[in-house]
Amino acid sequence: MNPGLYIHIPFCRRKCAYCGFFSRAGLTAEMQAAYAKALLQEASFVSRSEYGGAVVKPETLYIGGGTPSLLPVDFYADLLEALSEFFDFSNLREATFEANPEGLSEDYLRGLYQHTPIRRLSIGIQSFFDEDLKRLNRGHTGQEAVQAVENARKSGFENLSVDLIFGLYDKEPQSRWKENLARLAELSVPHFSAYALTVEPGTLLAKQLEKGMVRIADEVLLEKEYLYLQQFARETGYEAYEISNFARAGKYAVHNTNYWRARPYVGLGASAHSFFGNRRVWNASDLTAYVTDPVGSRQGETLSEKDLYHEYVMTALRTVWGVEEENLRRFPPSLQADFARQAERQCRLGNLEPTPKGYRVPDSRRFLTDGIAVEFF
Ligand code: SF4
Repeated sequence: MNPGLYIHIPFCRRKCAYCGFFSRAGLTAEMQAAYAKALLQEASFVSRSEYGGAVVKPETLYIGGGTPSLLPVDFYADLLEALSEFFDFSNLREATFEANPEGLSEDYLRGLYQHTPIRRLSIGIQSFFDEDLKRLNRGHTGQEAVQAVENARKSGFENLSVDLIFGLYDKEPQSRWKENLARLAELSVPHFSAYALTVEPGTLLAKQLEKGMVRIADEVLLEKEYLYLQQFARETGYEAYEISNFARAGKYAVHNTNYWRARPYVGLGASAHSFFGNRRVWNASDLTAYVTDPVGSRQGETLSEKDLYHEYVMTALRTVWGVEEENLRRFPPSLQADFARQAERQCRLGNLEPTPKGYRVPDSRRFLTDGIAVEFF
């Protein structure tokens, strides 16, 4: 099975208030060069150790971060050319690039389109309102976000996704979420992701909350905003195909859908994860350690049948396809029986509904999916 290829770019201009991803500010030219070299070293190692030195044909490519759009187009053109010694990019089903609106000029995007196989952009907008963006310590304005989408289209990118965040406020202005979705509708992008604001330890947001400087939505309000999101998606022709992902017909994110379906993927870069059937491998979340010895910073574990089953149930229940009997068959009969018992109970409680192929969480309970999935562990 052809894997997905993920490349992590751990650099950002500044740290957003809520961000728990691995990324660093203060990128230098030396670090950029050292990072490219480390990515190639790691790719060479993965090609030899996992694929016997054969050139791998990834089904999808995803360049994420961090802020990939912080680095020049030349970096990616050179990197992908060098990586072609190990990966054949000629038959990609999807090639996605994460970008932030700041600096996403027509020139930059035209270059990306012309000099790389990237054809899909995932733009981190989060909100169209400057007050929200300031609160989140984002590096762009609402107007720049709209402009970035326009620039993308003018440069040839039609396959666009936008990220938004809800749950920013505990009280007023709650209608802001509705207004954000109304602005999103005007952009008419084929795909968007919407995430509840979560508090990661050690972030600026965690500190602000601790000191009582800000207040954010509680679970009750989050659920209300999520239900509105589902209503919005229905009314505007987006399919809620995963708890946080919404697509127009045929515009599902292929790379991410493969994660949820437990397909193999190779992750290159600091903090990146790989998955090879029953083995998970990850790199240190430490830039210096990674560029000094990218192979040495790798760690791994073999997942038990039970781990794989839990992971499958957890991710599958978040999707519109749910848990499919055909996929369950790869687990031992005892785990299949456990699933059947619990599924029957959850159906009685209204937390699951049968589908032609298995079971899924009904739309009305989708926001509660993680709590429902835990019942299967
Ligand atoms: S741009 Fe993304 S990765 Fe960078 S700090 Fe903000 S949320 Fe984190």
